[in-house]
Amino acid sequence: MKRLLLVGAGHAHAQVLKDWIAAPVPGVDLIVVSPSALAPYSGMVPGWLAGSYRYEDICIDIEVLAAAAGAHFIEGVLASLDPEQHRAHLVGGMVLEYDVLSLNVGSTLNPPTVEGTHVLPLRPLGGLRLAWEALLAEMAPAPQRPLAITAVGGGAAGVESLLAVLKRLRVQQPNRELSATLVGRSATLLPSLPRAAAKSAQAALARAGVELRLGSDFAAGDASASDVLLWAAGAEAHAWQRASGLAVGTSGYIRIDPHLRSLSHPHVHAVGDCAEWAEPLPKAGVYAVRMGPVLSRNLRAALGVGLPQAYLPQRRVLALLATADDSAIACWGPATLRGRWVWRLKDRIDRNFLQRFALSPAPRGGGELTRRTSA
Ligand SMILES: Cc1cc2nc3c(=O)[nH]c(=O)nc-3n(C[C@H](O)[C@H](O)[C@H](O)COP(=O)(O)OP(=O)(O)OC[C@H]3O[C@@H](n4cnc5c(N)ncnc54)[C@H](O)[C@@H]3O)c2cc1C
Repeated sequence: MKRLLLVGAGHAHAQVLKDWIAAPVPGVDLIVVSPSALAPYSGMVPGWLAGSYRYEDICIDIEVLAAAAGAHFIEGVLASLDPEQHRAHLVGGMVLEYDVLSLNVGSTLNPPTVEGTHVLPLRPLGGLRLAWEALLAEMAPAPQRPLAITAVGGGAAGVESLLAVLKRLRVQQPNRELSATLVGRSATLLPSLPRAAAKSAQAALARAGVELRLGSDFAAGDASASDVLLWAAGAEAHAWQRASGLAVGTSGYIRIDPHLRSLSHPHVHAVGDCAEWAEPLPKAGVYAVRMGPVLSRNLRAALGVGLPQAYLPQRRVLALLATADDSAIACWGPATLRGRWVWRLKDRIDRNFLQRFALSPAPRGGGELTRRTSA
């Protein structure tokens, strides 16, 4: 019996599980490790922050998918890897052996801890949920003093999330005075998108009363002057990636070949934000999504079924940014459009994506997990 271990419930692994339900590989023990049964879909996170969706509505139920695929689901977090010995060590001490490993663990952020300030880190999303729900609960009976919000990060996630947070807080406490500042290191907003998109986003931020501080680094004084610090800057590789012995790039992301395999350890596959392709790709979910079907096929090839396929990144991606006013901005190459219909389009695309993975809960499959596992 061979063992395939999937660590992280990112976009590509959801596709691998979906394919496994349709066509499992006989004689393979499939294990999925994820910190939580529900894996949030980041494209809908701003909509959830704004109060347009419930948390459950923006998640893929990985445990249900795993059960339908006959896989073992382990609620856990990878702590370290020993790729020479084919071993994965989880937080808490469990050790999992594998024949083929796939990593789809995303990236992380490193926000400061600030005494007396609510820090909302946009990664990990499970942590964001806890911090956001705690803030909303604490705010409900709060005295009506002004509230200062600082968002750090002038990219799409920072802009969308700040607008969403402001919308939700204004609905919850309509009489409360809110002030908001967005701090970005780059001299322009949305530096990776066309200028017209940046102008639209700037107009949306101005309507929401946000002061912009671009070309500026976050300073300690910003934190102490803020009641809420929304942290969307500086995606980083998980620290254990550097220590794993896998070949990594200068930023700690796992270097992969066109077949999505580690350059140093070909039995290890890595996809999405945690990986570094030959030419570094932007950290965006669309790449992880497109890697999914290729990964699915290549994991089968690694298990002796079929031939691997080379991944070719799309040259142009559709970027959709919600502005929390029932509108959104769309960018396709240099073209930029904005309007209510763009928000409706984004909502439909996002819901359809999640619908692909929606299954009714079924009896948990997978049997006993004993062989080659130790605690
Ligand atoms: C607010 C926000 C909005 C965004 N909107 C968009 C958008 O509209 N379009 C777009 O293309 N991109 C968007 N992005 C970027 C996008 O989120 C990422 O590029 C994308 O999620 C990466 O996908 P992934 O599959 O690599 O990893 P993720 O989706 O991050 O999934 C990784 C999974 O691995 C799990 N994990 C992490 N560490 C471990 C561990 N040690 N052990 C086990 N499991 C682990 C995590 O819990 C998570 O479930 C947005 C980002 C944010 C923060």
